[in-house]
Amino acid sequence: MKFILPERELPKKWYNLGADLAKPLPPPLHPATREPITPDLLEPMFPAPLIEQEVTTEKYVPIPDEILDVYRLWRPTPLFRARRLEEALKTPARIYYKYEGVSPPGSHKPNTAIAQAYYNKQAGIKHLTTETGAGQWGSALSFACNVFGLECTVYMVKISYEQKPYRKSLMQTWGAKVIPSPSPTTKAGRAILEKDPDSLGSLGIAISEALEVAMERDDTRYSLGSVLNHVLLHQTVVGEEALKQMEMAGDYPDVVVGCFGGGSNFAGLSFPFLRDKIAGRELRVLAVEPTACPSLTRGKYDYDFGDISGMTPLLKMYTLGHKFVPAGIHAGGLRYHGAAPLASHLLGEGLIEAKAYPQNPVFEAGVLFARTEGILPAPEAAHAVRAAVDEALQAKEEGKEKVILFGLSGHGFFDLAAYDEYLEGNLRDYTYEPQTAD
Ligand SMILES: *Cc1c(COP(=O)(O)O)cnc(C)c1O
Repeated sequence: MKFILPERELPKKWYNLGADLAKPLPPPLHPATREPITPDLLEPMFPAPLIEQEVTTEKYVPIPDEILDVYRLWRPTPLFRARRLEEALKTPARIYYKYEGVSPPGSHKPNTAIAQAYYNKQAGIKHLTTETGAGQWGSALSFACNVFGLECTVYMVKISYEQKPYRKSLMQTWGAKVIPSPSPTTKAGRAILEKDPDSLGSLGIAISEALEVAMERDDTRYSLGSVLNHVLLHQTVVGEEALKQMEMAGDYPDVVVGCFGGGSNFAGLSFPFLRDKIAGRELRVLAVEPTACPSLTRGKYDYDFGDISGMTPLLKMYTLGHKFVPAGIHAGGLRYHGAAPLASHLLGEGLIEAKAYPQNPVFEAGVLFARTEGILPAPEAAHAVRAAVDEALQAKEEGKEKVILFGLSGHGFFDLAAYDEYLEGNLRDYTYEPQTAD
């Protein structure tokens, strides 16, 4: 059973949860002085309207018509009642999920990619650079740049470029230039290749390459797919729609669940519900991460760099340390060492909870979901499925009614090799080993 909003109900503004916080968000700091940074420091990286959104204290930011026009290609997205999953679990809980896999790139990521491409275009920028691991963010930005007629260069971690060729094909189909990283096109890339011509690359190296090109060219900016305030802001269309759809269903969640990498899909779904919680409504909000990269459940709440090479301002966040390189789990989108400062703040204040799972139980839930509801979840999204299933099983044990809402952030059609490994019993579970700083 699904709940469909008419197009005229598409949200017309994004929600800035920062404006509702009792205690203000700790500001980003300059790494040398440890003083709060001034917005002009970000100008070589991002266009002015996005920097404004990064620091805004307004509660709502209107969504420009040009962005709404593109959102209408796939938004509003459906909200489903997972009746067949409920029956399989024999649970008294009512389970709902908001499905973002209906977007052209197959995840929630174009909600911000479209907005970022639009503001860059407005600012006269001709070219965006970014990095990508498994390729979900790269494909979302390629799609968005194509829509607004911008050039797009994606530095793709070399091992993924070689092992996961289909996302590369998708990016190229949308007109992006995809460069395996490390590459000879940048100083950062050449330095690595000189030392190790066979380097398989890393997200950290790819970020350094994308940033270097953006900082050097006047017509070029850099684009980030998670973590930052403006990215989380753009994702709130998800939760604003879900609020209306839960109302259509005549229900309100007792618990909202989202998988957590940098925090953007989690924030997108949960922040509009947290607005109600801050205003006094009873509600639990649960972030789900992999045990291989447990920034929220095992990390320290401290200032750290956003990237491996230490090029960004210092952000106050739950972090495993910016040099931490997690094991090669299949939920590539959940392998970030830190967590969005806004989400970290909420965890610190006790407004949200966090939980971690190894990948085998996650894939088990993903397969159960595919066999009951039909949709094959992305490995990232399967973390939310696992936690929602466990919430429903707990309700059954306690003989309680419970309303569960989770975010199904994307489909898993580009992740079939991972499902193969799971089905053949070859998937390894990893636990977190703190790495000593060097
Ligand atoms: C990238 C990605 C994630 C993780 O990123 P967040 O910023 O934490 O949302 C989760 N799910 C899917 C489908 C993704 O592509």
